[in-house]
Amino acid sequence: MTHRDLALASRGNSFPAGVGSLGVTARVGTRAEAWRRPRLRSAVARWCRLLSQRYGNPRHGNRSNPLDELVYIILSTRTGEAVFCGIYRKLKKEFPSWDDVRGRSVAEFHRILAPGGLSSLKAYQLLAIFSALRAEFGRATLAPLRAMPDGEAEGFLTSLPGVGKKVAKCVLMYSLGRQVLPVDVHTHRVAVRLGLAAKRRPDTSQDLIEAQVPPELRYGFHVNAVAHGRAVCLPSKPMCGACVLRECCPYPKNGKRSER
Ligand code: SF4
Repeated sequence: MTHRDLALASRGNSFPAGVGSLGVTARVGTRAEAWRRPRLRSAVARWCRLLSQRYGNPRHGNRSNPLDELVYIILSTRTGEAVFCGIYRKLKKEFPSWDDVRGRSVAEFHRILAPGGLSSLKAYQLLAIFSALRAEFGRATLAPLRAMPDGEAEGFLTSLPGVGKKVAKCVLMYSLGRQVLPVDVHTHRVAVRLGLAAKRRPDTSQDLIEAQVPPELRYGFHVNAVAHGRAVCLPSKPMCGACVLRECCPYPKNGKRSER
């Protein structure tokens, strides 16, 4: 059994049921296309239009090469933007190809990562990922994902050391242009308050929230909800009075009851 076979065989399919103030989601068999329901589709389209007008679908310096993007995302964990971008530039200068890392010691690789958070963990994780890719494809590359359907590509990515669904979906969305929806803490908070999910951890709500957003709106929903969650829909005191969604969000009326 190859690395990819193992990934596909072990791929979970959890999908919590029965949430959302719009009475949507999650009967087995309809989950992937919950967004087709007219009332939901209309509500989500309105949120996306308002958020897009406010934030303009920003990009975040993401990479078109999927392995570059995976490295970039891993470096960004618990590290400020200026620092992780600097580390990324140093790595690319030292290792123009990720195969060039082969033969270098962990300590040598770690030294470059050291200014960032969790640098030791990241060094081991990245080296393990490059090694797994060499075992699978003969070199450190994610280019073969371009020929895989979304589910297979996501399954492969989540089989790599330390790669979860959110990171996998980020690589698919930013680098491969796939219509998937990564759910980070900001996207999750906004989605919960809008009634798209119960208050569970973001990593258990990825498929649920994605299924309720039409494919063509997922990129905008993600990047604009991240901006909105950072600027207005704050964790403890959302600024509902200044929010572009205040007329169509149940949270100000229901308060914490919408975060059940
Ligand atoms: S109205 Fe309040 S809770 Fe709803 S999205 Fe806006 S800031 Fe968040």
